[in-house]
Amino acid sequence: MAGADAQRVPASRAPVIFLGPAGAGKGTQAARLAERLGVPRISTGDMLREALAQGNELGRAAEPFLERGELVPDHLLIKMIRDRIAAADCARGYILDGFPRTLPQAEALEEMLGSSAQSCIVLNLEVPREELLKRLGGRGREDDKGHAVEHRLQDYEDLTRPLVVFYESRGQLHRVNGFRDKDAVSADLQRIVEEQA
Ligand code: ADP
Repeated sequence: MAGADAQRVPASRAPVIFLGPAGAGKGTQAARLAERLGVPRISTGDMLREALAQGNELGRAAEPFLERGELVPDHLLIKMIRDRIAAADCARGYILDGFPRTLPQAEALEEMLGSSAQSCIVLNLEVPREELLKRLGGRGREDDKGHAVEHRLQDYEDLTRPLVVFYESRGQLHRVNGFRDKDAVSADLQRIVEEQA
């Protein structure tokens, strides 16, 4: 029966893009949603830190930026994501956590996705700035210290905020209040993605 088959072999899902500043809970929520949907979560922060640990070409190129808490140059991220989403495990969908973060990255993604770009689901986790500072202050990772925290939040305002406008103008943006209990946030995100499927 067609219905039963459809349950056994999940149809491919539209790519999901997470936006939101450092500390908004993107990583946690993206991981939960990925598990729920059975698709990989592609975390650019994790991939960059792994490249750094391996000391490979990408890691060496990204290192000075990561240390300063600055965005890594677009061309490095674009290549990294282009290669990653071409992998077999992304064929049935994936969640992008940390990409795109700038307009040139968003434009490059549009090109990579072609006609499926229109079906992307964009989730924007919103948390007040004071709460972000509080959360990041308590997190203690090397690039979460003082000046670096301010820097990352400022980069978000300057470079990533325009993406909110970009995706909103195309009717792809879903705003979610991230200043709530984690489970309530997860439930909302899941509902949005399932409604779009
Ligand atoms: P956070 O979201 O808390 O800033 P991430 O783990 O997502 O942390 O990213 C860590 C660092 O990796 C960022 O501060 C930045 O230097 C780099 N990075 C991650 N994604 C991107 C991206 N799309 N473009 C440029 N730099 C990135």
